[in-house]
Amino acid sequence: MSKRANTESTILKTILWIYIVLCFIIAGLNYGYVKTAPESTAKIISWIWHFYENWVKTVFIIVASILTIRIIKKSKRTFMRKRNLTGFIITALVVHIVSPLILNNNELYFFTMPLPWTTTPLQTLFENSSFYVSRFPLWGKTGIVAAFAFYVFYSVIMIIGSLLFGRRWQCSTLCMFNGFAAEVFAPAFPLIGKKKKIQPITVKIFTVLKWIIFILSLFFAVYWILLLVGVPVFENYNLMSKLENYKYLSAELLMMMFFWIALSGRGYCYYCPLGTLLGFIGRVSGQRIITNKTECVNCNQCNISCPMMIDIKSKALKGEPVTSLRCVGCGHCVDACTTETLSYTTTFLSKIRLKYKRRESE
Ligand code: SF4
Ligand code: SF4
Repeated sequence: MSKRANTESTILKTILWIYIVLCFIIAGLNYGYVKTAPESTAKIISWIWHFYENWVKTVFIIVASILTIRIIKKSKRTFMRKRNLTGFIITALVVHIVSPLILNNNELYFFTMPLPWTTTPLQTLFENSSFYVSRFPLWGKTGIVAAFAFYVFYSVIMIIGSLLFGRRWQCSTLCMFNGFAAEVFAPAFPLIGKKKKIQPITVKIFTVLKWIIFILSLFFAVYWILLLVGVPVFENYNLMSKLENYKYLSAELLMMMFFWIALSGRGYCYYCPLGTLLGFIGRVSGQRIITNKTECVNCNQCNISCPMMIDIKSKALKGEPVTSLRCVGCGHCVDACTTETLSYTTTFLSKIRLKYKRRESE
């Protein structure tokens, strides 16, 4: 790596460290100290938290995207990466800046977490839930309806987009939880130590964890849906809400950041409950990496570049498509292929490309 690339990489790592440390400090104050703080102090802390989560995060995403492209383009093609980063910048501007300004709600990022990730947005429909009780004085009925409408809108966009464009649509374009960080800060991982190859045993552990977290998430989703339609289930919903929050904070948020520091940017994506669901939607969409046996020179660059430890080369040597449920559609393999043989597609994308080719040849 050149001296300039080294400096850029250090700046990238520093930005990510600042992002993590600030997140711990400000979120800790906002969700812990604010409950007991004097009203004026609580207001200031909440304002700082929302400013950090919306504006600072967006600025970090833009700056880190520019740095990442500068670092990567020195050694690889950046066709797919540029698309990913452009997608995340647009999503950040929409989710964190424009929509909060239009809907006058600084917490809309909560509402970009569709089921089975978290049931928090669903809880706004339940007037006795602690989420509803805490937000009602701030947002009023209209604000709560607007936030929920935003949630439905986001979920519909995510599902229709994934049916057309595969898991790539959410995991490498829209995801403001882990997907954005994995792409925008890609050269910075892990923050401590050298780049690590995820071992097959770790993949196996992640697979077990994936099903545990998915079943748990479905359990909470079904619980809130039953409660909302009036089916008498366990009535201590505040305890259920707390349990779900603990799952989210420990197995998801904290682990995600731990992986950034010690393992890889996509660590959490191996077992994200929404990602698991999207794997199946990706299947329905016909998502695959197209390979070409005659072009493959067995260089292994695709396998080295894949953050999800998918064996692309073996498929490429046989000319078979890669259809793994784990594929997040990042396109790193496509950019890394030395013979430019690989491409990402879905049934919809293939049809569009075919139409485009026909028009060109007419
Ligand atoms: S797997 Fe989950 S966390 Fe990862 S990019 Fe997809 S939705 Fe986001
Ligand atoms: S096979 Fe791996 S590198 Fe290629 S798009 Fe899927 S996750 Fe990304």
